[in-house]
Amino acid sequence: MRMSKMLMPTLREVPAEAEITSHKLMLRAGLIRKLSSGIYSYLPLGLRVERKIEQIVREEMDRAGAQELLMPALLPAEAYMQSGRWEVFGASMFKMKDRYDRDFCLGPTHEELFTQAVIDNVRSYKEYPMTLYQIQHKYRDEGRPRFGVIRSREFVMKDAYSFDLTEEGLDKSYKAMYDAYRRIFTRLGLDFTIVDADSGAMGGSGSQEFMVKSPVGEDGIAYCDDCGYAANFEKAECIPTTVDCPEGDLPIEKIYTPNAHTIEELVNFMGAKPYNFVKTILYKADDKYIAAMVRGDRDVNEVKLKNLVGCTDDLELAEPFMVRELTHAEVGFAGPVGLEIPVYVDKEVELMKNFIVGANETDMHYKNVNIGRDFTPETIADIRTITAGDKCPKCGGVIKQAQGIEVGHIFKLGTKYSKALGLKAQTETGEEKTVIMGCYGIGVTRCLAASIEQNNDENGIIWPVNIAPYQAVVVPVNAKNDEQMNMAEDIYQKLLDAGIEALIDDRDERPGVKFKDSDLIGIPVRIVVGKKCGDGIVEYKERTAEKSTDKPVDTAVADVIEFIKSNL
Ligand code: ATP
Ligand code: MG
Repeated sequence: MRMSKMLMPTLREVPAEAEITSHKLMLRAGLIRKLSSGIYSYLPLGLRVERKIEQIVREEMDRAGAQELLMPALLPAEAYMQSGRWEVFGASMFKMKDRYDRDFCLGPTHEELFTQAVIDNVRSYKEYPMTLYQIQHKYRDEGRPRFGVIRSREFVMKDAYSFDLTEEGLDKSYKAMYDAYRRIFTRLGLDFTIVDADSGAMGGSGSQEFMVKSPVGEDGIAYCDDCGYAANFEKAECIPTTVDCPEGDLPIEKIYTPNAHTIEELVNFMGAKPYNFVKTILYKADDKYIAAMVRGDRDVNEVKLKNLVGCTDDLELAEPFMVRELTHAEVGFAGPVGLEIPVYVDKEVELMKNFIVGANETDMHYKNVNIGRDFTPETIADIRTITAGDKCPKCGGVIKQAQGIEVGHIFKLGTKYSKALGLKAQTETGEEKTVIMGCYGIGVTRCLAASIEQNNDENGIIWPVNIAPYQAVVVPVNAKNDEQMNMAEDIYQKLLDAGIEALIDDRDERPGVKFKDSDLIGIPVRIVVGKKCGDGIVEYKERTAEKSTDKPVDTAVADVIEFIKSNL
């Protein structure tokens, strides 16, 4: 491609709306342009990268035996109404009506439609197991679109769905996707971690997320360097630890704690440690209210709690007026003693004695409270969120914390959608079986940004060869100098002939501008044709190298070809 003809609107200034490196660089390098909040156009360079990622995903899905098809993005409501997700998606689903007043949506994910496709088109149990996939635009009206294409409202996803007749079959299909995902993210050049993820209350038997560690990631990862354990923060199992508590069976005591609502205020007021307290937090779980108790220095894990309670909607903090009604006190003084709603207690609290809780009376707390004697929990379970420094649940080592960008998710769905929509297969013996499903997603466009987050420097993007929009660039220093131009053209042709995706910067620009641009757009290797071209010498430079090296033309061309081929 001739850069004089290329649509590549690079920017010198960092656009104000972009907070993170990948978003800034995607705008600056002219890969994308924003059309509306969370909606982007892909310009030629951006699209080339996107297509390369798609292609790697496609090759590995095909290799794993999955079949590609393409569903519409504009979808009738029925299947989503049948599964209940027409409501569950709520405001995040783009809904609309057609001219006959029929309900439609823009597909946020396609479990229902694939289930329906199998119902409609699979005729015999012999056709199972089967894994189908598509690479397509998805639409989610995200509450907070941000970070460019990392969390956008229109994005490209590869979604796959497996259909099996047995649990062992599902395990196999899942494993095939797991292996394919590992190959995909490795080929994309991403440094990733696979974490155990939450699979929800009625969820299937397993779920894992592929995370790209990055400080801008929105998901917390708990991991252990000793044994390699890694889990999503919401999922990581916590090992209870003991703390110093006052000894003996001390009598419960009510104490006056004026204006002390928070643990910090209480710690100051009472001269105790945060771990001597137990927090009592009131939640709304669907249409009832519950209380959750964790040690004063811990946090309630709402995902674990939701799964334990088994409610449909996400938990919400109880409204202040309900807190007042249920505790007969101002907000901040809730406690388990005398509370008339189910109390879910974290495992760690079971190891504590004589702790401090709210007294369900404004400005009052209880001291020396004990489980059993002073209140009866509904359930004692692991309902807190892990923190750095916690014990590794696998090996007892020390848990560390990192942030991650979720680029992929694999999930054993079980029979949730096949039951809801009625996907059954009749086996040889006439037995009817509900088909068992798995679903597997990759955020294709999010991968683009994740790659930039991991591969950049102060000059711009550093594309891995596999997904670079172009693999090499030839830069004549002076486009008006015939000798330089001729040699550059010759090199360019040789690279093209060798199958290299090459650029020639034939623009009449200052060399500084050309070098800056080729660094910014992250081309992996560059040949500069300058003053020494009369002696047959050019400069060879890989994007990651500090300096360029002078080489005879033929050597430089051969080295570029070798560099690209060996990195593919
Ligand atoms: P998140 O927790 O980040 O909102 P999710 O768990 O809802 O994502 P899935 O339904 O598992 O997402 O979708 C599969 C993949 O699609 C995700 O792993 C992610 O890479 C990508 N993805 C999801 N939402 C978005 C979005 N708004 N913009 C870009 N990519 C997305
Ligand atoms: Mg997910």
